[in-house]
Amino acid sequence: LPTVILVGRPNVGKSALFNRLIRRREALVYNTPDDHVTRDIREGIAKLGDLRFRVLDSAGLEMAASSGSILDRTAEMTGNVIARSQFAIFLIDVRDGLHPMDLEVGKWLRKHAPGVRTILAMNKSESLDDHRGYLTSAAGEAHKLGYGDPIAISAETGLGMVDLYESLLPLLEEYMLNAIDDKASEGSEFINAEESKLPLQLAIVGRPNVGKSTLLNALLQQDRVLVGPEVGLTRDSVRAQFQYQGRTIFLVDTAGWLQRSHQEKGPSSLSVMQSRKSLMRAHVIALVLDAEEIVNARSSMKHAEVVIARRAVEEGRSLVVIVNKMDLLRGNQKLYEKVIKAVPEEIQTVIPQVTGIPVVFVSALEGRGRTGVMRQVVSAYEKWCLRLSTARLNRWLRKVMSRHSWKDQASQPKIKYFTQVKARPPTFVAFISGKTHLSDTDIRFLTKSLKEDFDMGGIPIRIMQRCVP
Ligand code: GDP
Repeated sequence: LPTVILVGRPNVGKSALFNRLIRRREALVYNTPDDHVTRDIREGIAKLGDLRFRVLDSAGLEMAASSGSILDRTAEMTGNVIARSQFAIFLIDVRDGLHPMDLEVGKWLRKHAPGVRTILAMNKSESLDDHRGYLTSAAGEAHKLGYGDPIAISAETGLGMVDLYESLLPLLEEYMLNAIDDKASEGSEFINAEESKLPLQLAIVGRPNVGKSTLLNALLQQDRVLVGPEVGLTRDSVRAQFQYQGRTIFLVDTAGWLQRSHQEKGPSSLSVMQSRKSLMRAHVIALVLDAEEIVNARSSMKHAEVVIARRAVEEGRSLVVIVNKMDLLRGNQKLYEKVIKAVPEEIQTVIPQVTGIPVVFVSALEGRGRTGVMRQVVSAYEKWCLRLSTARLNRWLRKVMSRHSWKDQASQPKIKYFTQVKARPPTFVAFISGKTHLSDTDIRFLTKSLKEDFDMGGIPIRIMQRCVP
């Protein structure tokens, strides 16, 4: 929590404001100006509208200006207390105008707390008639303290608490955002270092005979996997490792995947299980479709393919769709174009929650498309690992919120801040103020905007929400 210290000469109403902010009436409000009793620093959690902060009553520090006898102790305390505060509310008594001791306090603040951002408040303002211009002239005088325009408040009646709120809000928000950012960047440095060491795990999945093994060989550029026309020939998950542009790619072949449905239930059900496991270990899932089958079928994707694509996205994996055997369509421009158009459309229909899933058209047999496939795989992986700083996200959030028009004021979500809690896949938390919450439409809007603005197309993004008081 940010810490705000209340400062001012004796009897300006620090304790009264302290009590109002912590909403408890347990502390005494001193009335004698010459009260030289050393009071301890009091601390409480302040509530001002929806703001929460730690508040310190510096009653014990004011003696620095009024009594030499306890200076030593005060000096010691000063260091401790000021070191813990980021903000100060500097109170003056509006009835007295600018008191010489106020100037002392001002000097003291500048000396001991040069980095503390200070709000000047004229307390007891309920006692002055603003219509006669008394407050304005008092404000003019207070300006001489060098802390900008003062706000008029009354700790006793509650006058001006809205102004105090509005002065504190931007300061506290900025502080909170920086605090989160510090944490986020600490985390991301660690994770990035770890992440860069990890090889990219790629799973090639698809129904039998679509050309997974052939593609795998094309990627490996050597015949490592037995390729044949018989259905279900490559039964075991084959692992292989290769380098692509200085990056280690760990290949998980899941040839057994999806074989259960029609063919042999016996021996391959084990490999189905294994492939399912390896599927979820993969970072990027390349789903291979057969172009020739697409031409002959009513829809581009068979049920099994839809199931696997959806599962990949639900599991937060990055999905790349590969349409293989494009060489068979050579010479038939019409069919060729039909496939190129139909596949991305159908993917969008079956997985509406993730827009922009990449589709690559290749011929594994001819060894074409290795570069295209690998470029999409690496790009999908990098987007999947993306980390955005909280400061950047919140600048973005403000822009995005102003860009969008809501039906009415009430339906606009009140997002206080937005932060990425993890990558792989990118996961965000929206902190919502009060009892409001993000509707499905809001989440869709934010997801879409994130994807467009940070080029995260094709990546499953998660947005969670948390209420803050
Ligand atoms: P898997 O079961 O998915 O691993 O499929 P395979 O890689 O074993 O390939 C099945 C059959 O399709 C084999 O006869 C391959 O030669 C053939 N095939 C694979 N890729 C292509 C391609 O790009 N074009 C053509 N015309 N045939 C292919």
